[in-house]
Amino acid sequence: MDAKKNFGSLDGMKLLAAFLVVAIHTSPLESFSGNWDFFLTRVIARLAVPFFFMVTGQFVLSGQEKFPRPYIKKILVLYGISILFYVPVGIYAGHYQGLTVLACIKMLLFEGTFYHLWYFPALILGIGVAGLLLRYCSGSMALVFTGILYVLGLFGDSYWGFIENIPVVSFVYEGIFNVFGYTRNGLFFAPLFLVLGVLLGEEYSGKQRRGQVQVQEGSGIRPGLGLAMGAAALTAEAFLLKYFELQRHDSMYLALPVCMVFLYRLLLELKVRPLPGLRLVSTWIYILHPGVLVAVRALGKAVPAMKDLLKNSLAVYLLVCVGSGAAALLIGWLNGRIRRSVRGSGDERESESKGERVRGRESKSENKGESESDSKSRAWIEIDRAALVHNVSKLQALLPGDCRLMPALKADAYGHGAVLVAKELNRIGIYDFCVACVSEGIALRKAGIRGEILILGYTHPSRIPLLHQWRLTQTVVDYEYAAILNQFGRPLKVHIKIDTGMHRLGERSEHREQLLQMIEMEHLKVEGAFTHLCTDDRNTEMDQAYTMKQADAFYEVLEEWERHGFVCPKIHLLASYGVLNYPELAGDFARVGIALYGVRSARTDYDRFSTRLRPVLSLKARVASVRELSVGEGAGYGLSFVARRPTRIAALAIGYGDGLPRSLGDGAGAVLLQGRRAVILGRICMDQTLVDVTEIPQVRAGDIAVLIGRAGDAELTAYEMAEAAGTITNEILSRMGSRLERILLQ
Ligand SMILES: *Cc1c(COP(=O)(O)O)cnc(C)c1O
Repeated sequence: MDAKKNFGSLDGMKLLAAFLVVAIHTSPLESFSGNWDFFLTRVIARLAVPFFFMVTGQFVLSGQEKFPRPYIKKILVLYGISILFYVPVGIYAGHYQGLTVLACIKMLLFEGTFYHLWYFPALILGIGVAGLLLRYCSGSMALVFTGILYVLGLFGDSYWGFIENIPVVSFVYEGIFNVFGYTRNGLFFAPLFLVLGVLLGEEYSGKQRRGQVQVQEGSGIRPGLGLAMGAAALTAEAFLLKYFELQRHDSMYLALPVCMVFLYRLLLELKVRPLPGLRLVSTWIYILHPGVLVAVRALGKAVPAMKDLLKNSLAVYLLVCVGSGAAALLIGWLNGRIRRSVRGSGDERESESKGERVRGRESKSENKGESESDSKSRAWIEIDRAALVHNVSKLQALLPGDCRLMPALKADAYGHGAVLVAKELNRIGIYDFCVACVSEGIALRKAGIRGEILILGYTHPSRIPLLHQWRLTQTVVDYEYAAILNQFGRPLKVHIKIDTGMHRLGERSEHREQLLQMIEMEHLKVEGAFTHLCTDDRNTEMDQAYTMKQADAFYEVLEEWERHGFVCPKIHLLASYGVLNYPELAGDFARVGIALYGVRSARTDYDRFSTRLRPVLSLKARVASVRELSVGEGAGYGLSFVARRPTRIAALAIGYGDGLPRSLGDGAGAVLLQGRRAVILGRICMDQTLVDVTEIPQVRAGDIAVLIGRAGDAELTAYEMAEAAGTITNEILSRMGSRLERILLQ
């Protein structure tokens, strides 16, 4: 279960693939042998670009995110930069003479503005096509469709000679070429490899879960043999087609996808440490090498000594490799520097653009022992962004690298403000969320939150269309409910909940028959399965045994499914306490709630690694009015407080209508004013609360009282409020009132 994925082999292959692409454009062996050069650049090097597509499929399109908008944005930016870089080169090389507007559009959308840049528009279109197919049909159907597209493309590429003379068909293809230029593009070529990447990645994670990968790891014999045979077939195919002059272009072969499947399997089975630095370098080598080639040729013209050297094609190749490699390293280095400096100054800019609701830490003055808020509200919540980011990284660090956080944003993100928290999480790269109900999911979507949103609870049948409309994923709460969802008649993304012992929601793990039927239901797109642990917050032997029993029951269901041919794409077992205490049970997601917000439910809960989390929320309110009571005078409803000495009391502009538990009244709770404790007096009202400030004479109307959080050296935690109210922090936080303003502290 805890086998680490080792994707270093993919990183290494990416670099090799980039150098193979350089070979395609420089023909390194041309000076020696035409046939060997053809073998290297038109056969072997043809594995490079499909490989890029497959890696993108696995890591970008796999699982949840079928339309990875942030990724597409990134590709558009890269494409834009590349265009800016190559337009002058293209003009210098005379590429754009006599260009019509239509040809320009065709170039931008399909062919790229410089020969190798076709890759970017193809990637975007390919993601669109593959994403659409994966969204609306099964993986194997997507494979069939993209396979058909590939075969159609094949006849416009290296099999052109077979149809060139068939009247209607060749006419249709000529039409296609008018639009695309080549069939090696985002419609015919890219989708198949993207889908293959998705499917092979998922097959691998399924194997890994079943513990089969360790057995095979390091062997790689079977895919290795397959690759050797595939490569032989590819070579034969390419040389035959060349010999009979059937090729219009030479990038698509029948044996190519076969080779790619074996190559990819081989790489997934090899155990190599990840080499993330190589990814960026490979991309930039790809982007830059034609520019370097132009520069090398120009140098050859200008420097006579170079001229002879450049007659040797291998020398040109090596020069371009070294040149573009060095340029890519330089860009990687610059990129790191720029990011660091943007991060340093970016906070201010962001806070300005968000206006009142976001402010910098600088505006807090600590000199009076409390924060000088610029909130004009009567009562508000402050969200400490740095603490949130800290908790994300602490929790992520407990988990294996391939387990993603799926923050629980239910109950307005435990009172923190769901939209505000989700936006910050989006910003740091988190795109999986869970909420309790459909209206919470819709609110996030309306606020523009991206990624997957899983609804953990029940949705009334009449509201099922909303799931579809707002791209929400529904939990299947039991077998009967699965049937109701299925009756909707259109594909619905679901995660199946399995009851392994909490006995709340989920189909019981013992009900194998029902669980099997659920995965067969036509309209349910089962993207995940999960269970909820219920004794993971204590460490008695009994509780630990129960947790293990729950995990075992869960895995037994998954194995039963697998015996029936269904490998569940994503699984998850852990909520906050699971992450804190049983990270070894991590699946693909961890549904973190309370711990993400920096607290445990209760101070004394089991916390195996004593993970240092930081509370994210502070609760504050203004003093509305201050007055003196003489001995014997009462205050508040029922005059439940009676002054036994001359008493100064302050009325705070916060009450149980804001989520302050009424049970904190009559001396049970306290607040901080001027950094000192002031006990709550009398009964808490809906909008007001009285506190004793006899010992803090300097308190004035307009001062800020801290109910949860720090004031100077003093601190009142959510634990204290929860303990005084006889509950857990989860209840305190999730009941924070909707009329409290939420402010993000940068
Ligand atoms: C609320 C909830 C969570 C998050 O729980 P925490 O203990 O706050 O991390 C996870 N899973 C399910 C099913 C939940 O309802």
